[in-house]
Amino acid sequence: MKKSIAIVGSGPAALMLAAKLDAEKFTVSIYEKNQAPSRKFLVAGKGGFNLTHSDPVKEMIEKYTPADFFRPILNAFSNSDLRSWFSSIGIPTFIGSSKRVFPEKEIKPIDVLNAILSELKKKDVALVSSCEWKGWNENKELLFRKNNMDPIQKADILVLALGGGSWKVTGSDGNWTNYLQEKGVEIVPFQASNCAFGVRWTRPFLDQAEGKAVKNSSFTCLDKQKKGEAVITSSGIEGGAIYALSPQIRKQLEEQGKAEVFLDLKPAFTLAEVKNKVEGGRGTKSWTKHLEDQLRLDKVKIALIKETVSREDFMIPSRVAAKIKKLPLHIHSLAPIDEAISTVGGVSLHAIDSKFELKQIAGCYAIGEMLDWDAPTGGYLLQACFSMGAFLAEHLNKTKG
Ligand SMILES: Cc1cc2nc3c(=O)[nH]c(=O)nc-3n(C[C@H](O)[C@H](O)[C@H](O)COP(=O)(O)OP(=O)(O)OC[C@H]3O[C@@H](n4cnc5c(N)ncnc54)[C@H](O)[C@@H]3O)c2cc1C
Repeated sequence: MKKSIAIVGSGPAALMLAAKLDAEKFTVSIYEKNQAPSRKFLVAGKGGFNLTHSDPVKEMIEKYTPADFFRPILNAFSNSDLRSWFSSIGIPTFIGSSKRVFPEKEIKPIDVLNAILSELKKKDVALVSSCEWKGWNENKELLFRKNNMDPIQKADILVLALGGGSWKVTGSDGNWTNYLQEKGVEIVPFQASNCAFGVRWTRPFLDQAEGKAVKNSSFTCLDKQKKGEAVITSSGIEGGAIYALSPQIRKQLEEQGKAEVFLDLKPAFTLAEVKNKVEGGRGTKSWTKHLEDQLRLDKVKIALIKETVSREDFMIPSRVAAKIKKLPLHIHSLAPIDEAISTVGGVSLHAIDSKFELKQIAGCYAIGEMLDWDAPTGGYLLQACFSMGAFLAEHLNKTKG
């Protein structure tokens, strides 16, 4: 007899799990509280829609926190496996100049979702929408809320794929933590990741730089360095290069209430080279124009230097050269969770075994962003969720009836 699997949530982790489960062995139902599935996946589609990244898998694994947790998962279902799978369901992908992987240009996010859903249909996966999981009753049956009723479901295996805590409008609201805490599952409070960071800028600086990117720079926090760009916002800074430093910035904020990020505005030059250029003759040019011309610094970078260093340091060649190579940025806060691209926190990794089964609740598994891990944007988040779904399916498919 087939075993029943109830999957709660219909994000990428859940959909990949359902697509990879053996239809000969399992009757699979997905329960989603929204009317339509995978809203956050579609939101991701409106932005960059990086399905994954083309890093060699060994390098890719190192982008995750904790990397050791992801090693077996990504080795079992890598970025190449994901691209092959998408191709097999009629979604060819390409590698962009940023090395991120996108669906081919004419393919819209909804087409990608529909292609996945039609795979599930072929496998007779039932998708039950507008159905919110509310925990368990005293008989250990699953409680749901649908159309003002409280239906009860039984399933041999329960997989929770409830997502993180940001962008609540998509349904991933983190409101499920109590149900698990009541069962003794360790829950780590949600925190924003891949989010904007608060910096106090002066009005004159914002007049020049708000909405503009600090390009071709290197950003460092603690032991982590990332080259790229970030955008100045009215309340701070955001963008790919700074998102990648989220774990380090969060750590400093937690420990000290503030964080320091250092910008190298001329990463291609050594400090000696920058000093040499700054000390070169400037003729009748103003000091600012001299710096702009000698180092090809754009207006945003010049404004940022003036915002950050004292007037005295700005005028002394050796000091301004040192700041150009190591400009301190004082971060005072994380953006609100709801505005973050992803969250850390949720189910502690100590609460699950190596196959995602909750140690406190036999037969109940948790996958996707609802677990406490972190990764930068650029395709790593979706890859992780898809890989967890595929990894768990492989494990369940192997289990004896
Ligand atoms: C603006 C934005 C852009 C992004 N862009 C990218 C990108 O380009 N590349 C990338 O890799 N990642 C991106 N991400 C992140 C990525 O979308 C998420 O990491 C991913 O969707 C998480 O997948 P998941 O399956 O864990 O959960 P989710 O996709 O969050 O799905 C969880 C589902 O569970 C449902 N649910 C929750 N509670 C219940 C309940 N009690 N009962 C029933 N159903 C419930 C929710 O309604 C939701 O549909 C982006 C995110 C955002 C917000």
